[in-house]
Amino acid sequence: TVARLRPFASTIFAEMTALATATGAINLGQGYPDTDGPRAMLDVAREAIADGLNQYPPGPGMPVLREAIAADRAARYGMSCDPDTEVLVTVGATEAISATLLGLVEPGQEVVLIEPYYDSYAAAVAMAGGVRRTVPLVPDGAGFALDLDALRAAVGPNTAMLVVNTPHNPTGTVLGGADLAAIAALAVEQDLLVLSDEVYEHLVFDGAVHTPLASLPGMAERTVTVSSAAKTFAVTGWKTGWVCGPAELVDAVRTAKQFLTFVAGGPFQPAVAYALRHEQGWVAEQRDALQRKRDILSDALRTAGFGVHASGGTYFVCADITPFGTTDGGAFCRALPERIGVAAVPVSAFADDKSAWDHVVRFAFCKRDEVLTDAAERLASLAG
Ligand code: PMP
Ligand code: GLN
Repeated sequence: TVARLRPFASTIFAEMTALATATGAINLGQGYPDTDGPRAMLDVAREAIADGLNQYPPGPGMPVLREAIAADRAARYGMSCDPDTEVLVTVGATEAISATLLGLVEPGQEVVLIEPYYDSYAAAVAMAGGVRRTVPLVPDGAGFALDLDALRAAVGPNTAMLVVNTPHNPTGTVLGGADLAAIAALAVEQDLLVLSDEVYEHLVFDGAVHTPLASLPGMAERTVTVSSAAKTFAVTGWKTGWVCGPAELVDAVRTAKQFLTFVAGGPFQPAVAYALRHEQGWVAEQRDALQRKRDILSDALRTAGFGVHASGGTYFVCADITPFGTTDGGAFCRALPERIGVAAVPVSAFADDKSAWDHVVRFAFCKRDEVLTDAAERLASLAG
C-alpha cells in the first residue's frame, strides 16, 4: 500500500461488522437498516432488470433520475438545478465524495473537516493528495455544536475546500441556522469551495427542518451537495448517490467520476427516480419511525448507565462510556460483542484527535423495534 493510504488499511465498519458476525452480536455498529425500502421502488428495479435495462447507462446518470433529483430539490427546497448540467449520479455518496475531492482539490491544498468526520473524507483527501485540517465539534448542552472560532482559525490561504455534514454522522448533530450562516459567511469571505454531505437530509427529528447549505446567500456557486438513496430509501446496498451544484463544479466531479466507475448501476436509477417522485410519504413515515427508535435506544443507553448525547437526526446516537470507569472507546467496542452481544463503533475512529473522542461510542438505531428491545436488555446487563 502506498504511504498516503497506509493509515486507512481497514475501515472501522468492516472491523466491527466482522466482529459482530463472528460473535453473533446485534450489530449497532455499521449503520444500515434491517428492513427494506418502499415495495413499489423495489419492484421498479426488478422490472428494470426484466425489461433489459442492463447495459451501461449514460455517464452522468439516466435522465429519468437526474430529472427526478432536480424536481425533488425544487419541490422540497425551492432550489433549481439543471438536470443536464448540474446533477451527476454517482456510485453512492462515497464515490461522490471521492470524485469531488479528486476533481476539485490540487495536491498540497488544504481541506477542512469537522471532527468527528465520516471516515471516507480523510481517505478521499489523502487520495487527492490534499492536506486535511480538522476543527472539532464541541459539547453543547446535551448535544454538540460547531466551534466557529476554531473553524475560522483553520482556514488559511492554502485552503481549497470545507467539508460540512449535516445531519451529522456520527453525532446526530443537526447544524442550526446560525452555524450554517457562519459557515456560509466564512466560505464566501475566504472564497472556499464547500462539499456539503447531506445524505441524512430527510432524517431530521423533532419537527426540525433540514436547510441545504447551498440555499444560503453566496453558497450556490461554490457548493457541491452530496446525497444518496441509501438513507432516504433504506437501500444502502444499491450504492446510488448523486451530486448537485453549479455546472463547472459538477463537471469537475464528473471528470474524476468517469475514471473511477464511469457510470453507476443501471437498474437502480429508474427505481430511485420512481421513489423520489412517489414515495415521499414513505420517507416521512421512516423519519418518524427512526425518531421513535432514537428514543428507544437513547433510553436504553441511559438506563444502562451511559451518558447519552442528544441526536437530532441520522441513524446514530453517541454515548459517553466514562460512567463505566473507562475512556478507551476502542477497547470498549472491541470487547462489547463478546461481553453482552452488542456491537458499536468508537468515535475515535472518526477523529484525528483520538484523545478528545476516545470516551464516546456510536450506536445505530436503524433497526427493527424487536432488535432494539433485545439490544436494550443486553445493554441493561452493563448496569450495576
Ligand atoms: N456520508 C455520510 C455522512 C454517511 O454516513 C455515509 C454512509 N451512509 C456516506 C456518506 C456514504 O453513503 P453511500 O452508502 O451512499 O456511499
Ligand atoms: N455510513 C455507514 C455508517 O456510518 C456505513 C458505511 C460503511 O460501511 N462504509 O455506519
